[in-house]
Amino acid sequence: MRLTLLGTGDSAGVPHIGCDCETCRRYHEEGRHRTRFSVLVENNGENILIDASPDLRFQFLREGIEDVDAVVITHAHYDHYAGLGSLYRVVWDALPIYGAPNVLDAVLNEYAYLPFPRRFEAEPFEPFGVAGLEFTLVPVHHPPMETYGVVIRDESTDTKVVLSGDTSRFFDDDSFEAMRNPDLLVADAFVPSDTTHNRFVADRISDDGLEFADKHMTYEGALDLADALDADDLALVHASHYFDDDYDELADDGDTYVF
Ligand SMILES: [Zn+2]
Ligand SMILES: [Zn+2]
Ligand SMILES: [Zn+2]
Repeated sequence: MRLTLLGTGDSAGVPHIGCDCETCRRYHEEGRHRTRFSVLVENNGENILIDASPDLRFQFLREGIEDVDAVVITHAHYDHYAGLGSLYRVVWDALPIYGAPNVLDAVLNEYAYLPFPRRFEAEPFEPFGVAGLEFTLVPVHHPPMETYGVVIRDESTDTKVVLSGDTSRFFDDDSFEAMRNPDLLVADAFVPSDTTHNRFVADRISDDGLEFADKHMTYEGALDLADALDADDLALVHASHYFDDDYDELADDGDTYVF
């Protein structure tokens, strides 16, 4: 199994439109981007997407991806599904779209005009198989949106990968238990809690410094979750422009992990 982090940015992406903060200026100067959230999972010669970023076209061109065999959608926020539209005239066959029933209702209703989506409902905690891998959706906490993390198991290599694009630090024990002991945790770190921000950001960080706006983790919250889950490796994503470069666990667009 091989994972590629196609997009490691928050819903606005970095550089942020209209912003001239130090980070955005540096990204402009260096031609860098944090595009919106998407992860490519490759196994047995098949390409599975976890979420479909609005930047999908750019991500596919950048990574030389030519086709996709299945998509898993975690929740119905724009930055996680709008890339489905970019697959028009890229995908010619029926494309399985996996997700929880309510999530599929919201996303597929919006894309009812697309010819290729085939709906595959996945109930929370009930594993389903794609490309020789086992996927399980686990509820996380990202109010008000019904949102899931994804647990991927590869029995052939005894590997467990846990991904969550959007969650706050604390969610139900059942989900926590299902996510325990991953070889790799991919999780959101929206903002650092220990640097200077504008009021909008600072006022939304929880008193314990672990959560942002009750729906995302801070960098420190994500480290705390990784520690609690006993994750062997960590890739922090969904990062905003409020970070400078001094955060070692932040992943970058195009980072890959092979198991
Ligand atoms: Zn998001
Ligand atoms: Zn900025
Ligand atoms: Zn979201």
